[in-house]
Amino acid sequence: MTTKNNALPNVLILATGGTIAGAAKSGAQSAYTSGQVTIDAMVNAIPEVTKIANIKGEQISNVGSQDMSFDIMMKLANRINALKDNTSVDGIVITHGTDTMEETAYFLNLVCKTDKPVVLVGSMRPSTAISADGPLNLYDAIAVAADANAKNRGVLLVMNDWIHSAQTLTKVSTTAVQTFMSPIKGLIGTTAYGTNEFYRYPSQKYGEKSEFSIEGATKLPRVDIIYADADMNPDLIDAAVKLGAKGIVIAGVGNGNMNKVALDACARASKQGVVVVRSTRVATGNVARNVEVNDDQLGLIASYGLNPQKSRILLSVALLKPRKLDELQKIFMEY
Ligand code: ASP
Repeated sequence: MTTKNNALPNVLILATGGTIAGAAKSGAQSAYTSGQVTIDAMVNAIPEVTKIANIKGEQISNVGSQDMSFDIMMKLANRINALKDNTSVDGIVITHGTDTMEETAYFLNLVCKTDKPVVLVGSMRPSTAISADGPLNLYDAIAVAADANAKNRGVLLVMNDWIHSAQTLTKVSTTAVQTFMSPIKGLIGTTAYGTNEFYRYPSQKYGEKSEFSIEGATKLPRVDIIYADADMNPDLIDAAVKLGAKGIVIAGVGNGNMNKVALDACARASKQGVVVVRSTRVATGNVARNVEVNDDQLGLIASYGLNPQKSRILLSVALLKPRKLDELQKIFMEY
C-alpha cells in the first residue's frame, strides 16, 4: 500500500466493515450503508499516515457490526495469534462497526496471545458525511498501534482522542461521536493527532496471562442473554434451557436482580447444569455475589464488572471446557 520506510513501525490493518467503511448518497443525510468502502480507500484518505507507519491492509469481512459473528471474531483472533512471532508486524489495527465493537474487543482481549498493540477503531459517521470522524480516528489508531508504549496493554479501542481498554469500554450513545466511555475504571490514555499519552495498564487479566484459548475451536457454546424488567415473565429462561443453551446471562435490574419467578427459573436452569450469570441492565457498577440474591443457594454466578454482552462473551469462551461454578465465579472476578 505504501513504499516501505525501514525506520518506521509496521502496522497491519484488519478491516471488518462498519460505519467507518460506510457510505451515503450525500454528506448531510443520516441514512447510509455500513461496510461499503475498502481498507485501501480508507487508508488513501489519510496520506499523512505514511509518515508514522508502514501500512498493510487485509479485508477480513465487510459487514455492519450488527452482523458481526463469532466466526468472524475467531478468524480475527486466529490471524492475530498467527502474527505473534512475525517480526514484520509491530502493531495491528482492526476497523470495525461500533455497535458490537465491545464484544469483539473483549473477545480478542481474552483469546489473543500477543503483547503487540491490537487497536480497534470505528466511526460514528460514514466516510461520506460532513465532518466524517473516521479518517482522524484511523490515523490515531495507527499511531497507537505503532507505539511501543501501547504494548502489553491488552486490546485497545481508539476513538475521538480516547484510548480505552477492551475490558472497560462500552457504547453509550446511538449517535454521538463520543459514544465510547470507560465508566468507573477510566481511560488507558489519550491521543491527539498521533501523539499518545498512556495512564495505566488494565487491572484485569488479558492476553498472555489469560487462560483462555480458541485453539482447535470452530464454534462457541450457546449462551443467551435475557433482559429483566418489572413483572418479568420467566418463560424465556425455561425456553433457553429447552433450546439447548449451555449458559444464560440475565441483564438484571439493579444489582443483577430479578423477580421471584425469574429467580426460581434460574435456579431450575442451574440444577439442570446450565450456567446462569447475573449481570445488570444498569450502565455502571458491579453486580456482587450474595447481596439481595442468595447465589450460593440458587447456584448462580455474579458478573461483577461485566455488562451482559461481555458476560456472554466470557461465559461462551469459558464454557469451551467444563468448569465448576466456583471456578466460573473466580473467572468473572478476574477478567
Ligand atoms: N451499525 C454500524 C456498525 O456497527 C454502526 C457503526 O459502525 O457506528 O457497523
